[in-house]
Amino acid sequence: MNLILLGAPGAGKGTQGKNLSERFKIPQISTGDILRANVRSKTSLGLKAKEFMDKGVLVPDNVVVDMVSDRIQQEDCQKGFILDGFPRNINQAEVLESTLKTMNKSIDKVIGIEVDRKELVRRLSGRRVCRKCGASYHVIFNPPVNIGMCDKCDSEIYQRDDDKEETIEARLGVYEQETLPLTDYYIRKGLYKAIDGIGGMDQITNSIVDAIEKGRSNS
Ligand code: AMP
Repeated sequence: MNLILLGAPGAGKGTQGKNLSERFKIPQISTGDILRANVRSKTSLGLKAKEFMDKGVLVPDNVVVDMVSDRIQQEDCQKGFILDGFPRNINQAEVLESTLKTMNKSIDKVIGIEVDRKELVRRLSGRRVCRKCGASYHVIFNPPVNIGMCDKCDSEIYQRDDDKEETIEARLGVYEQETLPLTDYYIRKGLYKAIDGIGGMDQITNSIVDAIEKGRSNS
């Protein structure tokens, strides 16, 4: 089962991707996480990506497309994968489709997690993430038990540079201009299913699972 999670920054793709990965036992592939890991370890890819990420704009397509193509060919993706944060524009979607075709694969479902802009800003500006395990918190709505420390692995939690006020607007603008057209693109292909991204985390996961299961029983 090959899934795409679409949605604006802050819609909950990372959280839901993790839940779905556990539920369906297939890997979550987050291009943002892979890029941040490269920035941290100062690889040449990371150094190239950082200047774009700091501004809240997209990293050039060729960089991410190669990264994803390599990742989906790995053994653990044979039974399926969950793409989180990719594709981010029509060109990436087209390249993905042709790469999958060469592997005799295709996308089975695109889940669009929909959240209004005001809520996205509220979530992003208060978001804190664990440096080690990537767990996500919110300073007001979901704070860790011990301030500044991850409940799951006791590591430091921090605010991503691109979650700072000045970068949030840029990211949402990029999303609206470049990524949102993917909704129509996947509706036309009959793959898109909208999910209300406001509500309890488990409730949203269940709605997504229902949508996926329904798709499977119809096919
Ligand atoms: P995310 O964690 O998904 O919000 O991604 C953080 C940043 O990484 C984005 O603002 C982009 O600069 C970069 N990025 C992540 N995924 C992509 C992608 N598919 N294409 C281009 N840039 C990306």
